[in-house]
Amino acid sequence: MSEWKRFVLDCRQNPKAGCTLCISGSEAEVLDAGEDHVVRKHGFQKSPALRSQLKQFLKEEAFAR
Ligand SMILES: [Zn+2]
Repeated sequence: MSEWKRFVLDCRQNPKAGCTLCISGSEAEVLDAGEDHVVRKHGFQKSPALRSQLKQFLKEEAFAR
């Protein structure tokens, strides 16, 4: 069931950020929240390029049944 799919964006993937935040949710939710987070906390500029960059860091969450 694809509606159960969640994606994880883990800031620890970028050790330079020195941040341990981990966001999970649907792909769109994680991209929205992740974009806000890196803009506010890591000084990135909001742009479509940033969004596609974040997308590359998304990992599909293992779903425990
Ligand atoms: Zn962060």
